[in-house]
Amino acid sequence: MPELPEVETVARGLQSALPGRRILSVRLGKTDFIEDPAALERDLPGSRVESVRRYGKFMLIDFQPRDASEPKFALQVHLGMTGRMVVTAPEELVAPHTHVFMTLDDGREVRYTDPRRFGLMRIVADGGREALLAKVGLEPLTASELEFRRRISTRRARIKALLLDQHVLGGMGNIYTDESLWRARINPKRLGANLDAGGIHRLYGAMRRVLAEAIESRGSSISDFVDSYGLPGNFQQKHRVYDREGLKCFRCGTRIKRAIVAGRSSYFCPHCQPEPRGRKKKARRSRS
Ligand SMILES: [Zn+2]
Repeated sequence: MPELPEVETVARGLQSALPGRRILSVRLGKTDFIEDPAALERDLPGSRVESVRRYGKFMLIDFQPRDASEPKFALQVHLGMTGRMVVTAPEELVAPHTHVFMTLDDGREVRYTDPRRFGLMRIVADGGREALLAKVGLEPLTASELEFRRRISTRRARIKALLLDQHVLGGMGNIYTDESLWRARINPKRLGANLDAGGIHRLYGAMRRVLAEAIESRGSSISDFVDSYGLPGNFQQKHRVYDREGLKCFRCGTRIKRAIVAGRSSYFCPHCQPEPRGRKKKARRSRS
């Protein structure tokens, strides 16, 4: 599933290609992932792309309406599990499961392809934009350490669940959560409220470094992620713990374990990321 670095990679690609371009026409295939397909067909033709930005795990494509007297609007795009959005020449072969075609005024096409159709596309009216963005959690790349600590250390929930909660942080998914926790040497089962300032500091730094490195590598392509040019990312070669069950920890050589935490497969090193339980008891026993 595309997470922050993958969606950011797609958004940056679209941002370099689309602003200033006018959409001439829209053609739709299957529409069960589109909220109100008629609104897309009504609002997009004739409108001009202003900018493309990522918020959490989704993108907003802002449009200037055909007529300056009409209110501005945006197209929200969530790539779901298998969505891809590419800008291409119209003569390029159409990939199977391509359900949205937008013809641009420079002759190219924006195509949205989504085999599993867990994605989402919908028109967000000017008034609905703020309400939508208010629901997205902290942006991991721009939040301060203090803001991050406030969100985490006040919660008696597992750190893995907190990092995945899109109302706490926007954009983290299973891969970057596990990679951040491994780098910070924190077990995914630890409770947010039980992390000390040092742990929060390590996690904040690790998360930002992992996300920045992954964006640099244009995301992870573990199943079929591609960017807006149709090219895969390569951060999957730099994963340190995700999907490495039974393999040796890059730091200490212990075999990586997998457990279900927060309802998700979680990979961790049992030596570098010790389980939370029994810490106080052990300390007491060693004193006697
Ligand atoms: Zn280890």
